[in-house]
Amino acid sequence: MQCLHRGRYNNGIMKLADTHAHLYLPHFKEDLGNVINNARNNGVSHIMLPNIDTKSVEPMLGVCNSYPGYCLPMLGLHPTSVKKDFEEKLELLEKYLEKGSFIAIGETGMDAHWDTSCLDQQETSFKRHLEWAADLRLPVVIHSRKTTDIITSILKKGYAGKVKGVFHAFSGSVEQAREITGMGFKLGIGGVVTYPRSGLDDVIREIDLENIILETDSPYLTPVPKRGKRNESAYLVYIAEKIAKIRGVAVSEVAVTTTGNALELFNLSNS
Ligand SMILES: [Zn+2]
Repeated sequence: MQCLHRGRYNNGIMKLADTHAHLYLPHFKEDLGNVINNARNNGVSHIMLPNIDTKSVEPMLGVCNSYPGYCLPMLGLHPTSVKKDFEEKLELLEKYLEKGSFIAIGETGMDAHWDTSCLDQQETSFKRHLEWAADLRLPVVIHSRKTTDIITSILKKGYAGKVKGVFHAFSGSVEQAREITGMGFKLGIGGVVTYPRSGLDDVIREIDLENIILETDSPYLTPVPKRGKRNESAYLVYIAEKIAKIRGVAVSEVAVTTTGNALELFNLSNS
């Protein structure tokens, strides 16, 4: 595909971190090289890849090996991948954790949108991920669809202070945002912020930029004006621009602050 506004943010000054992108999925099989080039040409300095299932680990590691230091792997079992056999899957992931080096535990969490029949198992799995994160001193990347309050209460009961991380694709209220950031967790903001009536404008205005990191969740949640197409990391610029507009600051300020937050959270150097 063509490069979008090439040069606009590739002056070496603007740096953006895409903290959540599933670039190892089949959606990118044909043109991953172009997707990475587009990202680089649009100021994206790092892309963090959250794992979703046992079968996705090898494809994810394959992408990270092709772009070392640029695409960075996490390890976790997505809540919608948690079924009756989740214990076996967690055992397999633990073997990867022993061998590999991952920048974070994730994605994990709970999802009450698609299927509520495994919510108990999701909770057990989530807590196991939190133990991994605490033991390995890694940040945790949390998926919290329709489960933000229950997840917040789980964290408050035994993990806040011991574990740091991000509520990825945050789309809750200002009150929930205050509670989450009060525990030291970040808000992962993506394409939803560009949608009309997302409800996120108040959150972006009320919560300090120090608590926000950016993400695309590629290939999902494509920001306006690309909505309807496959999402990719280069589109992070639209998310940064929308946040800058809502807060009335320069895009460069959004980039510097949110990228700094991301590098700090994921223990990466700012080079
Ligand atoms: Zn995800």
